[in-house]
Amino acid sequence: AKKQGRGRWALFDVSMREAAIDALVMQNALKQALANDEFSVVYQPIYSTLTDEICGAEVLVRWLHPVLGPVSPDRFITVAEDIGVIHELGSWVMHKGCAELQRWKAAFPELELHLNVNVSGVELNRTGYVSQIKDILAQTGIDAHDLQVEITESVFLHQPETIAQVLEGIRELGVRIALDDFGTGYSALGYIDRYPIDAIKIDQSFVSRMMAYHRSDAIVRSILSLGRALNIDITAEGVETLPQLLRLREMECPFVQGFLLSRPVNAEKIMILLQCQKTK
Ligand code: C2E
Ligand code: CA
Ligand code: CA
Ligand code: CA
Repeated sequence: AKKQGRGRWALFDVSMREAAIDALVMQNALKQALANDEFSVVYQPIYSTLTDEICGAEVLVRWLHPVLGPVSPDRFITVAEDIGVIHELGSWVMHKGCAELQRWKAAFPELELHLNVNVSGVELNRTGYVSQIKDILAQTGIDAHDLQVEITESVFLHQPETIAQVLEGIRELGVRIALDDFGTGYSALGYIDRYPIDAIKIDQSFVSRMMAYHRSDAIVRSILSLGRALNIDITAEGVETLPQLLRLREMECPFVQGFLLSRPVNAEKIMILLQCQKTK
């Protein structure tokens, strides 16, 4: 195995480590993570294709455990949901993001910036969730219209009536609702027909296939025309190449997000990007 070189060893170590983190270890670690200050957040800018400028950012949580190392949210969010940690974590992320948005707005009052926060179905289902958002907005001084909650179609799988009420409540505050990972679920069209959806994020799987497959390109084009017909804002996620960006602009996709434009970065870096944009 030594002959395979250092890279291979590293890869092997990582997968071993990952496998070693069993559910119970992760659960116990997660329970203490907030108190131990192990979470942080990063922000991925969202760009307008009309102005080529940053018009907002999506806040993404990061977890660095002292022994387990960095754990991806794709792995720990569901565990956090199972053990109920998601409520405290979600509220911490939203509060942190809104406070940061307030700093950006204070530094660049001429910009219209918004913040996107991922919210899980478990959070929506908890009594008092709408007033929790209201409190965070009041505490951070953020205008409800500048906050967008991102939900996935999976939130509708359990207690759709409750979810519908909570979404109405969120919308009454003035907070906008975005449907994340659009196109990957089952009856996406039914949801935008029945629920108060303001925005759609086209899943990165379509964007990554778009240049190679005519069908994927046609699907993206159809989602965009649907968005225009229903007055729903569309963001294309996972834009990684220039041809993808140019094609999306050609199709008049209003918002784009992805590694080509910027990876998720810390709050200070967003401040710097906004500053660079101003002096450009
Ligand atoms: P998501 O909401 O679909 O977020 C987009 C994910 O794609 C992020 O991964 C982001 O880093 C990544 N990404 C962005 N641009 C590109 C690109 O151009 N190419 C590729 N390959 N990937 C890109 P991340 O941060 O690991 O988050 C994974 C998922 O974890 C998120 O998917 C979201 O569902 C969940 N998540 C993250 N933060 C939170 C949170 O605070 N609360 C909740 N409930 N879920 C969260
Ligand atoms: Ca998202
Ligand atoms: Ca997504
Ligand atoms: Ca996702």
